[in-house]
Amino acid sequence: MLLSQIRIDSMRLSASLERFAQIGATGRGGCNRQALTDADREGRDLYVSWAREAGCAVAVDQIGNIFARRAGSDPGAPPVLIGSHLDTQPTGGRFDGVYGVLAGLEVVRTLNEQRICTRRPIEVASWTNEEGCRFAPAMLGSGVVSGAYELQYAYGRTDRQGARLGEELTRIGYKGELPARRRDYHAAFEVHIEQGPILEKSATTIGVVTGIQGAYWLDVTLKGVAAHAGPTPMEMRRDPWRVACPLISRAFELAAQHAPWGRATIGDLKVMPGSRNTVPEQLVVSVDLRHPQHAELTRMLAAFRQSAQDLAASHQIEVRVEEVWHMPPTAFDTRLIGWIEDSAAQLGYSRQRMVSGAGHDSLHVAQFAPTAMIFVPCAGGLSHNEAEAASADDLAAGANVLLHAALRAAQD
Ligand SMILES: [Zn+2]
Repeated sequence: MLLSQIRIDSMRLSASLERFAQIGATGRGGCNRQALTDADREGRDLYVSWAREAGCAVAVDQIGNIFARRAGSDPGAPPVLIGSHLDTQPTGGRFDGVYGVLAGLEVVRTLNEQRICTRRPIEVASWTNEEGCRFAPAMLGSGVVSGAYELQYAYGRTDRQGARLGEELTRIGYKGELPARRRDYHAAFEVHIEQGPILEKSATTIGVVTGIQGAYWLDVTLKGVAAHAGPTPMEMRRDPWRVACPLISRAFELAAQHAPWGRATIGDLKVMPGSRNTVPEQLVVSVDLRHPQHAELTRMLAAFRQSAQDLAASHQIEVRVEEVWHMPPTAFDTRLIGWIEDSAAQLGYSRQRMVSGAGHDSLHVAQFAPTAMIFVPCAGGLSHNEAEAASADDLAAGANVLLHAALRAAQD
């Protein structure tokens, strides 16, 4: 068979996902397979057994990341990496993460069936603790490998009951020996459900993901003077709301000016003292600004800061804008993006370029390997929810694009 004509087995992929969804199954059709629980161990064991059955050599690194390697004809050539995660949210769905790992395994199974030996090895990775719900922060396994986090820092993370990540890794038998650090990869792919509504809304099968949004988390503290709500004339007040109201509007304006990818979210607000008949002395407003392009995001931040200063000065309010967290935008590799787009076109799938609003392991992987992602639609854009759903056809389409993009990279 011509290489261009091979396809993954959609039934086998669906059956594998179905079988996996039984592990940590919740009453409402979802999954609870939080990192390093017994359910996670059961999932890992199943994945390792399937990978071995498919002829892969399995290695586990010091942070519990699992690498299943299918040999290539040139063993010295840097491999092609395909990866995602097997852990879930407490009320997670049956596709977030696990789809990416099992689609990688499906690529291996398909190549075996067709007796295709690629030049480069193919490695399918399952990254530890992507979700970050049991142990913060999220994307920890890939983050340790990229060097964003120290191994000892990761081992010391604790869950709500005080269990340490390092001890939990040992307990479930997945503290491996392979050093958890960067290795040479020729290319890295991750296929994932979109977790948003864009593909479904535009009836598009394949999202060609060009990058991941960057974010700034800010705490804006506005300080005025507390005063009685009755006797104090309006013009004599130093009310921090006089700044907060236009400043919040300004944040939304900035997102609109940077449409369609600009985002502004006011997720939290503290009013002090928080009494209905007192002009507040102080407000703390949380602001989350996002954009996939570094220059644009920086411009949004600068404009926001300037507005905060100007408004505060004109209302005699003290202002402090504090950066709580920053995630730089990730731009994926243009060559890989092209391969994904070409593969989707050759397979006859509708496609569109887009950015990811959510973080993924690929964010860290992109720090040490040329990386790109493939999205498929999910029903109603719903994710981190037991009702998460994706059609078998779309899941197969994403895996076929993955297969052909990975093949292209593996022969490159
Ligand atoms: Zn995920």
